[in-house]
Amino acid sequence: MPFATTDIKDDSEITDVPPKKSVGNEQITNDQIKKREKKHKDYQPKYFLSIPITDKEITGGIKILQNAIIQQDKRLTKAMVSDGFFHITLLVMHLLNEDEVNIGIDVILELKPLIEEILQGKHLTLSFQGIDTFGNQVGFVKLAEGDHINPLLEIAETAKKTFQEKGILAGESRSFKPHLIFMKLSKAPSLHKNGVKKIDPELYEKFITTGLEKKHSLASIFAPC
Ligand code: AMP
Repeated sequence: MPFATTDIKDDSEITDVPPKKSVGNEQITNDQIKKREKKHKDYQPKYFLSIPITDKEITGGIKILQNAIIQQDKRLTKAMVSDGFFHITLLVMHLLNEDEVNIGIDVILELKPLIEEILQGKHLTLSFQGIDTFGNQVGFVKLAEGDHINPLLEIAETAKKTFQEKGILAGESRSFKPHLIFMKLSKAPSLHKNGVKKIDPELYEKFITTGLEKKHSLASIFAPC
């Protein structure tokens, strides 16, 4: 769970609008505000099951891309994902208390043989090709099209099912779209105030066709970050 303490504020599908003190004539009490905030906080995904991406060839390629963007706009430095935090998120979970965290640990142990079965002794080969954004806010490297995505989708689906079977709130309403993020504007809220509201596609366009490939063993999926 290496990303449990990272900036997760915007990783929820629930809109991040602070509660207002009054809506029209309706006065909202402090108790109601606290209750709302608690409810909102409880539903934030707090735990992430991810494959850390540590291969030097891939992280090196991403750093070249990040530097090329920074050369064009130095303010974006703060929006870059740091080396050591590159990852592919397979699943987000809400573990609401210590008991659920312990269940989560057991599920991870249960998952190991299931993933072994999916991989059938083969390496998980991840090829990356091209760049895209989520709403011009999150920049990511795409996984190349091809059959190599199938075991990844299967692993993510199996993980989701296994967590859900144990009563854990896991997965999102949107469909799983594997990606490797390299920048996120919300990492630096000051950017928005300074007029940087979107990632301009011109900043990364010459990298759109860049490709990277790396084999991942089961050990690397379970490696600590
Ligand atoms: P992650 O790769 O899990 O660290 O996610 C990085 C950011 O991308 C988070 O802010 C997520 O909310 C956002 N994100 C992840 N998947 C999607 C998606 N399918 N559509 C839109 N935003 C997404």
